[in-house]
Amino acid sequence: MLPRRYKKLKQVLDRRQPDLTVLTEDVHKPHNLSAIMRTCDAVGVFSIHAVSSHSDEIPTYSQVAQGSEKWVNLYTHSQIKTAIEQLHQEGFKIYAAHLSKEAVDYRQIDYTQPTAILLGAEKWGVSQEAAERVDGHIIIPMLGMVESLNVSVAAAVILFEAQRQRLKAGFYDRVRLDRTTYQQTIFEWGYPKIAALHRQKGESYPPLGEEGEIIG
Ligand code: SAM
Repeated sequence: MLPRRYKKLKQVLDRRQPDLTVLTEDVHKPHNLSAIMRTCDAVGVFSIHAVSSHSDEIPTYSQVAQGSEKWVNLYTHSQIKTAIEQLHQEGFKIYAAHLSKEAVDYRQIDYTQPTAILLGAEKWGVSQEAAERVDGHIIIPMLGMVESLNVSVAAAVILFEAQRQRLKAGFYDRVRLDRTTYQQTIFEWGYPKIAALHRQKGESYPPLGEEGEIIG
């Protein structure tokens, strides 16, 4: 890896936010998932979660994600219930972007807390089961003729508000990933093929030098 490339990867990783995530519920259209992932990359989201309850297919993003799938981890789940439980156990507050009567304006939420945004399916929205299990509902006010936004547009509006709040709070000025995750991720980003070989053999990654070169 060239030193310039290493520097760029570090700059991006330095700003990743492990405590901001997205949970999609049966969002299946690849272009929507791809657009959400690109927004996540731009905002600094480290990983996202996708529930696919009607099929075991892991969504693929590569056609339209313009490579952002390489930079945002994707965890798939088969049930919304267990995905929500896992995020709650990890300390996230989960807000459903959901057009319900209880929903509050999305700008009222404090996104500097560990936050997961739940986004619903293109046609049906957030399921009742999910809506009942989350910590709150948020809405982007709609003042025109149509009732809802495209799911990826809704994701972008909310995530850039989260980015605004986190920029203000200085969350992008210091490294937020723990050291082990940081070291592993920079190796995987810089040397994906070598990293895969090490994983196959069950070996840990070798350390990197100051300019990103493999030591040892
Ligand atoms: N008919 C569906 C409904 O009633 O929820 C519309 C689904 S909308 C096309 C897809 C997803 O985008 C929603 O489940 C929600 O997560 C998000 N979304 C779209 N517009 C939104 C808005 N104005 N406020 C909050 N979330 C919105």
